[in-house]
Amino acid sequence: MTQDRQTYPGDSALPKSGDLSDRLIWRLMKDGFRTQGWTYAVAIVAMCAVAATSAMTAWVMEAIIDALTEPDNRARVTGVSLLVMAIFFAKGIASYVQSVAMAKAGNRIVAEQQLKLYRKLTQRGVAFFSVTDSSDILLRVTQSAQRARVLIDLLVSTFTRDLLTLIGLVGVMFYQQPLLSAASLIVGPVALLGIRYIVQRVRGIAAQEMTSLGEIMKVMQETAKGIRVIKIFALEPKMKERMDNAVRQVEARSNAITRLQSITGPLMETLSGFAIALVVWISALGVLGGEPTTPGQLMSFVTALLMAYDPAKRLMRMRVSVEQQLVGVRIMFELLDQEDVLTEAPDAVPLKPGPGAVEFRDVGFSYEGNQPVLRDVSMVFEPGKTTALIGPSGSGKSTLLNLVMRLYDPVAGSVLVDGQDLRGVTFASLRDRMSFVGQDTFLFSTSVRENIRVSQPDATEDEIVAAARAAHAHEFIETLPEGYDTPVGENGAFLSGGQRQRLSIARAILRRGEILLLDEATSALDATSEAYVKDALKTLTEGVTTIVIAHRLSTVIEADRIVVMDQGRIVESGTAAELLQADGMFRDLFQKQFGGADLMGPAGTGE
Ligand code: ADP
Repeated sequence: MTQDRQTYPGDSALPKSGDLSDRLIWRLMKDGFRTQGWTYAVAIVAMCAVAATSAMTAWVMEAIIDALTEPDNRARVTGVSLLVMAIFFAKGIASYVQSVAMAKAGNRIVAEQQLKLYRKLTQRGVAFFSVTDSSDILLRVTQSAQRARVLIDLLVSTFTRDLLTLIGLVGVMFYQQPLLSAASLIVGPVALLGIRYIVQRVRGIAAQEMTSLGEIMKVMQETAKGIRVIKIFALEPKMKERMDNAVRQVEARSNAITRLQSITGPLMETLSGFAIALVVWISALGVLGGEPTTPGQLMSFVTALLMAYDPAKRLMRMRVSVEQQLVGVRIMFELLDQEDVLTEAPDAVPLKPGPGAVEFRDVGFSYEGNQPVLRDVSMVFEPGKTTALIGPSGSGKSTLLNLVMRLYDPVAGSVLVDGQDLRGVTFASLRDRMSFVGQDTFLFSTSVRENIRVSQPDATEDEIVAAARAAHAHEFIETLPEGYDTPVGENGAFLSGGQRQRLSIARAILRRGEILLLDEATSALDATSEAYVKDALKTLTEGVTTIVIAHRLSTVIEADRIVVMDQGRIVESGTAAELLQADGMFRDLFQKQFGGADLMGPAGTGE
């Protein structure tokens, strides 16, 4: 099928949004707090305790120094010693509670976001997966949820703990030495200006880093999937070069971010040094005059000033890290915000059991913004009968099957099963009535048995074996090293083409829907496999409404009806005999291929 070019309306590639840092942060916090509010509340209380005990450490210096100047007052010395012990013990406990609570909430958020992202992905239309690189999807699901967590951690812990600590310490400073404190704070605005510049630089670099990370994943995936082509065409050096490039980009960007982040260090050191020097200078010169100071007060002030440097530095650094993490959070929200397309109607009803008549009523369809692919298609596919679809490549045959399965909705008209419009029925009931056997079978990387069972999860062992027998798969499965328990490898790598096809037929037989959609394989099988597959298909199509994109003469001849498509329209329909007499397009196609086993030629798949 040729479905890798365009998008379905509303289901387009991931948009790149503008810069909305604050809104993103706000939203992330709201999401996080909504589900993890209590855990964060515990963490925040613990952080307040950490901040308070830190400030108390500076404050208690006054008592210590004063007690030491009067060592004879034993009661006071003991009291102060006990107080110091209590403060440090409380700080230790509070730090523990805070780390545990933060990690718990963070892990929960990662888990929830990943599940949310995955749920969202499974609701996307098929078109989304055609136009979005799987590496991009991987990046979003793995990286962004992690980054969201780091970001919340940063915001909660740094903002709460460091900001409160800083406020506490500055409080102590002002309490002890208001004038000196005011003098030392003049470095604040300079620091803020510096940080603003750094943040802007980091924003751009972090986005580039993410792009390069995506490229690494893409190269990895293409290497794993396309290893045969890579080897056959000796593309190793080229792939290696791509990888080298991507890895180097990530390395360079990562270094650049670290450099920028680390500038906050020297910036704050210098400014703090300046503030302290200023304080020393001012107090030595006594320029500010003021009230007399005890050594205890001065010591307490200096301790608070020196301690304040640490949280201030972390706050500055945090602002830079936030920018780096935001890139990941942004791409996560981009995905979560995409409108769902092809959703179940709110008042959807189950598809009622019936004979399985498929009807197209004036159906028009086009892939987003493109030429119409189906025009005015009206046709009833009769229950229990086999209809062969033929027509040149690109005439819309696969698209027609996609509409029956409701992988897309028609742009005009409607598709009905037993008189019910597909748009009004539940997905579960719709899929329950249908089986599909495509040209390339997707197999999960598990055992043969589980691969057959996917179509009917509660099937018994006997049913699975019966389906495999009917699909002529049982014989080869028995010869596999572990029979039905044999792993099939990634996408059935350990099986041959014919074996994979028969497994997919077994799946369809197990499901037993009244409607069977078939995209007949064009790949040449050896004569034995071919005969098996043909037999298996015969069993499968008996008594069910079958629409088959036919590539073989025999399929066409044996069909109850033939529908000829051209440029999105149904141009002819009838039995082989009728159509041969009609002297139309079918006759043309038939004559070209007459005598050959393949009616449509290699171009018949639309690929
Ligand atoms: P057929 O199965 O008869 O070969 P298709 O139904 O695959 O034809 O394709 C019909 C037309 O729709 C072709 O012109 C093809 O290029 C176009 N087409 C198919 N899939 C997509 C898609 N996902 N996006 C855009 N155009 C598509």
